[in-house]
Amino acid sequence: MRFFAEHAWVDGRVRRNVRIEIADGRFASVTPDAEPAGESLPGLVLPGLANAHSHAFHRVLRGRTHSGRGSFWTWREQMYAAAATLDPDGYLALARAVYAEMALAGITCVGEFHYLHHAPGGVRYADPNAMGAALIQAADEAGIRITLLDTLYLTAHVDGTPLRGVQERFGDGDAESWAQRVAALSVGRHALVGAAIHSVRAVPAAQLALLAGRAPLHVHLSEQRAENEQCRAVHGCTPTELLDRHGVLGPGTTAVHATHLTDGDVKLLGDSGTGVCLCPTTERDLADGLGPARRLADDCVPLSLGSDSNAVIDPFEEIRGMEMDERLATESRGHFSAGELITAAANHAALGWADAGVIAPGKRADLVAVSLESVRTVGSRPDQAIFAATGADVTHVISGGRRIVADGRHTLVDVPRELAKVLS
Ligand SMILES: [Zn+2]
Repeated sequence: MRFFAEHAWVDGRVRRNVRIEIADGRFASVTPDAEPAGESLPGLVLPGLANAHSHAFHRVLRGRTHSGRGSFWTWREQMYAAAATLDPDGYLALARAVYAEMALAGITCVGEFHYLHHAPGGVRYADPNAMGAALIQAADEAGIRITLLDTLYLTAHVDGTPLRGVQERFGDGDAESWAQRVAALSVGRHALVGAAIHSVRAVPAAQLALLAGRAPLHVHLSEQRAENEQCRAVHGCTPTELLDRHGVLGPGTTAVHATHLTDGDVKLLGDSGTGVCLCPTTERDLADGLGPARRLADDCVPLSLGSDSNAVIDPFEEIRGMEMDERLATESRGHFSAGELITAAANHAALGWADAGVIAPGKRADLVAVSLESVRTVGSRPDQAIFAATGADVTHVISGGRRIVADGRHTLVDVPRELAKVLS
């Protein structure tokens, strides 16, 4: 395959007239300032974007759970009600539509933080990995890669309170049983199996070390002040300090949210090489608070972005959230460069795909063309278009050398029809 991009994000900046050749799913050559050849990709061409944190089933809550008062904790009861109804066939249909919606917005790889493992009451399906297998199949049918972050979830509170109600579907009993089940997962070439610790609320301290050293390893961290307070009461330290004590931090680990951190927590994350996944649209919807994104970056923490609750699936909105939240918090402008924002939005390494996320020879051939002629983007300079674009401006998506979106339409899934079917 050969493409020609008038503007493409190459070597950390916008390059003009870039000829891009693809062979066996990877970039064979990338040549700026070239003569036109091959199929023209209009607008600004970016690397494929990585959605580093998703719970696919939360999509059913969009547009239904935003009014009225409450908090993260009252929202969680509504989320649990949605979790109670799914089975493997239903989850396959829902996740396929959701992942195809992600593809339309420019996402070529999803990190699915997966804890909805078992049937109601915690009963095992005939295949104990039936729900995870459904998610892996869903990503394949939507044309994107997936890292199934299979999640260890054992307790309801930091103090070890047992799971109850719908939470019983999440639990494997102990870390050994979880590891045995996960070892039996089989994946295709489009998928990786990673691990996740749901949070310090859901995994007893004594079992944290059993996951230390796994990669990629993700963990919800300090999304809520209550988690910090409960952790201090039980363990006498912050959640970040608890993870550090048990060897969980490190370059293969990504902390999700990392909203309410002490200065010491920021330093521990930076010194250990741990990454942080920000989820700006979810964090504002759930009134979580603002995390120290710039301070984390200054301490050399690699940042990534996730749609999390999928109340919004738009990587450009997450990109803008990363910068604009800092502006609101500091009353000053210009905290992240366009390059830093695109690097975060295309952080496939956080999902274990270190060979993706940039348009360069040898890397996985993921491309996203963003229109510069829509009502939102017309007039934008290409190097600032990410501050104006939305997912609706994505016109073409190539994932691993395969065309999955053309002229704004998914080539494999009728996304509006399938979403309507699973959500109405
Ligand atoms: Zn989450």
